[in-house]
Parts: sequence; structure tokens; C-alpha cells
Amino acid sequence: MRAPARSKVLLLLFVFLLPSSLAHSQATTQTGTKPNPPAGQASANTWAQHVRQNDATAKVPDRADMLRGAYGPFRANNNLLYYHLDVRVDPDQKSLSGKNTVRFRMLQDGSRIQLDLQEPLQIDKVLMGATPLKYERDTSAVFIDFPITLHAGEVYSIDVFFSGKPVSSGRFGGITFGKDPAARPWIDTACEGEGASIWWPNKDQWRDEVENMDISVEVPNSLTDVSNGKFVGKTDLGDGYTRWDWHVSYPINNYDVALNIGNYVHFGDHLGPLALDYYVLPEDLDKAKAQFAQAPGMIEAYQHYFGEYPFLHDGYKLVEVPYSGMEHQSAVSYGNRFENGYLGRDWTGVGISTRFDFIIIHESGHEWFGNSITAADRSDMWIHEGWTTYLESLYVEYRWGKEDAIRYLGGMKPKIKNLRPIVAERGVNAEPTEDQYFKGALMINTLRSVVDDDAKWFALLYDFYQRFKYQNIMTEDVILWFNQHTGMNLTPIFDQYLRHTQIPRLELLFGEAPGMVMYKWCADEDDFAMPVQVGTAGHWQIIHPTTHWQWMQTPLTKEQLQVATDLYYVEVNKQ
Ligand SMILES: [Zn+2]
Repeated sequence: MRAPARSKVLLLLFVFLLPSSLAHSQATTQTGTKPNPPAGQASANTWAQHVRQNDATAKVPDRADMLRGAYGPFRANNNLLYYHLDVRVDPDQKSLSGKNTVRFRMLQDGSRIQLDLQEPLQIDKVLMGATPLKYERDTSAVFIDFPITLHAGEVYSIDVFFSGKPVSSGRFGGITFGKDPAARPWIDTACEGEGASIWWPNKDQWRDEVENMDISVEVPNSLTDVSNGKFVGKTDLGDGYTRWDWHVSYPINNYDVALNIGNYVHFGDHLGPLALDYYVLPEDLDKAKAQFAQAPGMIEAYQHYFGEYPFLHDGYKLVEVPYSGMEHQSAVSYGNRFENGYLGRDWTGVGISTRFDFIIIHESGHEWFGNSITAADRSDMWIHEGWTTYLESLYVEYRWGKEDAIRYLGGMKPKIKNLRPIVAERGVNAEPTEDQYFKGALMINTLRSVVDDDAKWFALLYDFYQRFKYQNIMTEDVILWFNQHTGMNLTPIFDQYLRHTQIPRLELLFGEAPGMVMYKWCADEDDFAMPVQVGTAGHWQIIHPTTHWQWMQTPLTKEQLQVATDLYYVEVNKQ
């Protein structure tokens, strides 16, 4: 922590406040005209318009985006309880067939619900007990009609039978039927962007999760399937196939549900009561044993900051895959070549990334942010990626100290584009900009400097995670919680970084009178106010600029006066 108000170089002699400004108390006073929406009840229309105005480059959603992205009446009328995904995978035919049992509680009386399954997969039939149900497909949506009224509060279960040859698409393929280097079948899923409905029928949205799940996967006898949760057992079906059964004891995102089918070998470890299980190709066993030794230390670091690993009963797994990695809940996909850095690179370019395996550290961080705490709409995915990228720096801090953590974060600045707001349009399946990672992390680091009390900051991080673990939340929930628990009005700061393209710029004007500097923020949020440290290295002074000019005396010249831009992600304009 940097000691405030002890500078011998910079003497803050006078702060003249403009009549309309209450700079020093502004942080605790909400002066804006925009109210804080209540947690989880934000007006989607208001906020969506707010974002849309600033995101001229966003894709115009098509019908499939809207049907997937909207939490419409036939999703909102029910609450998921349980899935049993029971599927046979044929590597030669590159096909799937099986069923998903969907158990749900009706929240309102109704006779129609919406699930999703993408073409070209077929729906073979939908049954409630022995009764076939009618259904209607509309792009990737599947509207299922019941011959009776389903009653609010009652629990119902249907079986959706499906089959076909799914088509790979997107960054990691969604689902791929590949071969390992020895030409054995190697099949995996990674469908966060494409949606889980690319390979199995489900309620394909982010707001509602099942409470627990069974996954049964039938594969040819020579292969192993590693899915999420705890390994229950395997059964030789006598027809050349073996069924692998997994049980997930916690809520899980649809896109986290994974197939990893290959010629895996297994080894394991423990961290206290937590089982660590690793599945890799046989030729990589020795490399994996060396590299995966980083996993217990990673979990210890995150447990230090946030509390117990979220999925204790399901264990923690690393599973080798042909792509770089993905945070599949309790079964993290790993494809980082058993090297430190990210695919062999010094990821943030400041010599720190090469000390650890980026995929182990980043993807596993998602167990806390992404899998345990989940965004309720894809638009707010920074809650996964901004936070988990910040978690990387916490791992660095835990291992090597704060100075290295700040340096690690600083290496992210060149990756930020500031061309689109981090929060995307809501309810239309919009993909947020990559800035959600690095700018999100630097915003959180900026908030740490605004709080300016490391003990308090780490208590806030712990309490925030504990408050929202296993829940699906929106940006408004994050902001409201931090406002309430810091006693500050951080809304304009969050909004500036999340809902606009430009970061705040500190305007510094020297030389109107000897030994004086004028200062203010240039920001899109009219009531933007954020303390910031200025001065020289080792002699920082906190000032409280707003969007109105203030001035102070300083012996420092334009060339000498610095802004602590490693602690605050801001621009500086000295004139
Ligand atoms: Zn991530």
C-alpha cells in the first residue's frame, strides 16, 4: 500500500472547490440522475439502450440470436432442476444419439416451454412419461407443447430424444470429432460461444441452471469419457460400447457440460479433502506429471483469497484436449503443451507469465468466477473474464508479491482496444468484446486503488465471492454490492469502464499561475469522480478530481508531476 498524504515533495496547500463541486465527499454521495437499479431487477430496456448507443459496431442480432438471447415467456415460466444427459457417441459416424431428461418446476401455469437444439441435430421424440409431446422448431429454439396445463409450483420431467451429426463451428469447434497424434479418436466439446445446444438439447441460456446433473456417455470400449462431476462408474454394455457415468452435485452452466473422449490415462493427487484427477494421452504422462504439479498451489492461492474450492464433492480435474483450454466445471480442459506461458508465449510480455502455466491458472480461476458465480446474460460475461483475468494477478501476488502483480496487470494495457463497451447488448446473445478480459481486470485493479486499503480490499473480494457464489448475477448486482460495502458511489466508475469505450482521462493544466496545476476528469459519465494518486514515485498524493475543474498548488513542474497509472487505468493529458 502506498502511504497517502505523507509527501514531502508535494504539499497540498489549497484545494479550491468550485461551488457546485463537493470533491472530497462526492465519493459517498450519489449526485447523478441515473438511479442504481435494484439487484437482479435492472430494467433491461433502459440498460440495453444505454449500451447500444455506445456500441455502433455491434452485430445486429438475427432471429436465432433473439430467440437464444431473450429470456422469453416460455423460459421464464419454469425453473430448471435437473438434467440427465444420456448419449452415445459414434466416432466413426461422427454422430450422437440419446436423450436429455429435463426436470423443471413451473413458476406460472402454462402449457408451453422453450428448449434449444441447433440443426442439423434432429429431435426424434419428446415424451412426458409415455405421452409423446408436440414441439415446434424455430431456428435453434424448440417450443414444446403439453396437452394439459402445467401448474405453478409443480415439478415435471420430460425426455428429449435426439440424434444426428453435429457441425463444428467457432473458435474451438463447439464439438469436434478429431484424432490424437497417434490417430486414435479424440472427441471434445467447447461451446461457450456457440451454445451447448450445438450438441445436446437443453434450455440454452445463462440465467437458469439445473441444481445437479447426471451425465452418461457411451463410447467404444477402447476409449474413456471424462465429463464433469464425480466419476460414478463404468458399465460394459456388451455391444462394443462402455457407458461412463458422472454426477454433478452443483449448479452448472450448459456450456460447461463437456465430453472429453480419448485414449486417456489417469493419475491423481489430493489437496486436503479435494481429489485432483488428471487425464492425459499416454505419451504425455511424464510431462503432465511435472506440469500439473502447479495445480495444488493454484487452488491454495485462490482459496486464500475467496474461500473453499467451489466444487469439493465433484473434485478438480485437468483433461488434455487439442485446443488451448476451457473452464469446464470441475473438469478443466487443458491444451497448453505442458509449458509455462500461454501456448509458449510470454502472455503479458513483462517476463512474469513464463513463471506459470497460463491455462492452469486462468481456466481454473473460472471455477470461482464463471462457474460458481455466473453472469445471468452473456452480455455481462466480464463477470467471468474480467474477474478471472484479475485472479491471474492475485495468483502472481500470492506467489511473488504485489509489485509483480501490478507489473503483470500493466502488461495487459497494449491488448486493450477501447473500441466497444465491455457490457454488450442484453438479451440478444451478443458476444462481448475481448476488452472484457484485460480492461475488466485493470478496472478491478483501479477499484483496489480507489479503496486504497489492501486489508479492506481483500476482505471485500472474499465477501463479494461468498455473497454471490453459486448464483447468476448481472453487472448491477456487482455495482450495488460494492457501493453498499465500500460506502462509496462507484457507479460512475463502473459505468465509465463497462458501458463506454473511452477510459477516463485526467486533464492537467499547468502554468496559469506559478506553482499551480488545474485538474479534472474527462469522462462520459457526467458525475464521474475518482480519487487518483499524483506526485512522484514514492511521494504520491491522493487528489479527488471530478468532471469540474479544481486546482492545487504544487512545486512540481509539468515534466515532474506523474500520475500513478500502474494503479489506475487512466489516460493523462498534461498541458
Ligand atoms: Zn477465461
